This record gives sequence, C-alpha cells and structure tokens, in this order.
Amino acid sequence: MTNDAVVARNVWRTYGADDAAVVALRGADLTVARGEIVAVTGPSGSGKTTLLNCLAGLDAADDGAIEVLGTDVRALDYEDAVEWRRQNVAIMFQAVGLLPYLTARENVEIALRLRGVDRSSRRSATAEALARVGLADHADHRPSELSGGQQQRVAIARVLAQPPKLLIADEPTGQLDSDTTLVVLDELRSAVKDHDLTIVMTTHDPTSTAFADRAVRLAGGLVLDEDAGA
Ligand code: ADP
Ligand code: MG
Repeated sequence: MTNDAVVARNVWRTYGADDAAVVALRGADLTVARGEIVAVTGPSGSGKTTLLNCLAGLDAADDGAIEVLGTDVRALDYEDAVEWRRQNVAIMFQAVGLLPYLTARENVEIALRLRGVDRSSRRSATAEALARVGLADHADHRPSELSGGQQQRVAIARVLAQPPKLLIADEPTGQLDSDTTLVVLDELRSAVKDHDLTIVMTTHDPTSTAFADRAVRLAGGLVLDEDAGA
C-alpha cells in the first residue's frame, strides 16, 4: 500500500516493429504524492504524451509497473479502465476535445451528468466553474465561436466543476496568455487544496513549471531527474 497517487516503474512503450520501431518510453519512472502538482517537461518527442496515456490506461505499456490511485492500471481491461477513469481521473488532451455541437455550458455539464450529478447541482457547479475561468459571459457559445485559449478554459472549467482525484493534463496552459495562465493555475491550486486533487501535467511553459510543486524532465523516453526540486 502506498499513499502516492502515481507510482510508475520502469515503463516501456515501443511503437511499430523492426526497422520502424520507435521506443517512446525506455524505462520511465515517476512517483507523484497525493495532493502534489507535478510538471513533466522535456523536448518534443521525449515521450511525455505517451507517459500520460500509459498512466491513464489509454495506451498500453509493454513493460513496467503502473499503479495509479492504488489501482494496477495495466491489469484493467478496456471496460474496467473506462469506468475507473470516469470515477477517478480527468484527462485534458492537447487537442482540447470539446463536443462541437454543445455550448460551453453543455460541454461542462455533460461531464457532470456522466458522473450522476443531479440537475440543479450541475447547473450551479457549471456556472461557478465557468465564472472561475472568466467565461461566465461565453456560456452559450459553441467551441467554433471560442478562441483556442477559451476552449482550453472550458476544459479546465470541466475539471473545476467537479474535481476528480487525479487530473492528467497534456499542456493544459499551452494556448493561454500569461495572465490567464496564472488565473487558471490558481484555480487548479484551489481545487488541489479543497478537493485533495493530484495533478500530473506536461508543459513547455516556464510559468506552469515554476508553479508546480515539482518538475521532472523526460529525455529520450527516460525520466532524468525525478528527485530534483522545481
Ligand atoms: P512528446 O509528447 O514528448 O512530444 P510523444 O510521447 O508524443 O512525445 O512521442 C514520443 C515518441 O513516440 C516520438 O518519437 C513519437 O513520434 C513516437 N510516437 C508517439 N505516438 C506514436 C504512435 N501512435 N505511433 C508511432 N509513433 C508514435
Ligand atoms: Mg506531447
């Protein structure tokens, strides 16, 4: 038993085979304590997205041990992984992934509906979360009527409306200007404090890296300095 949110050991992931094989992860290690915010940095192609996908059970590691919130992620079958994520994990992809025919409000609300939150709680939590990311007056806009940064804020409002145990986020502030980045990071920090949220996020952004409790660096599929402080 461990009180860590994430314990990944010696994780390997190879794409393709033979001459075309790309080793995306070559023995990556990562430990994240509950309530910690960890930034995963490293150059493009270093394996950051692959590592997040393996932690979330969205991609299957070839070797290694991955325990997330006490669950052996590699042992979950597809349906169990879907249910486990629904109950425990929020995921923000680089491509924000809002539903195009739904408004900002509906995009936040649907995540709550999937978790069985009742209608009036959904309404109030959604309105509050959109206000916290500065989008109260954009609630009725569809993604095509929002900038990339505003879409990213809708995805963050989804997390704030009902914080999961673990947020796995691929460049969550990548499309935000520096003022908005600070607003969003502050809101995520509040969710960590109030809801015991844990965050693992990749980032290229020095503001987000400095904001994290700890930064780790990936290079060539290996986590280089897991113990280094941010
Ligand atoms: P990062 O997120 O740090 O930019 P990725 O995890 O996306 O890195 O990619 C790591 C390596 O794995 C890269 O060389 C990339 O081209 C390769 N890769 C990632 N996903 C796939 C895939 N689905 N098929 C083949 N190669 C992939
Ligand atoms: Mg990536």
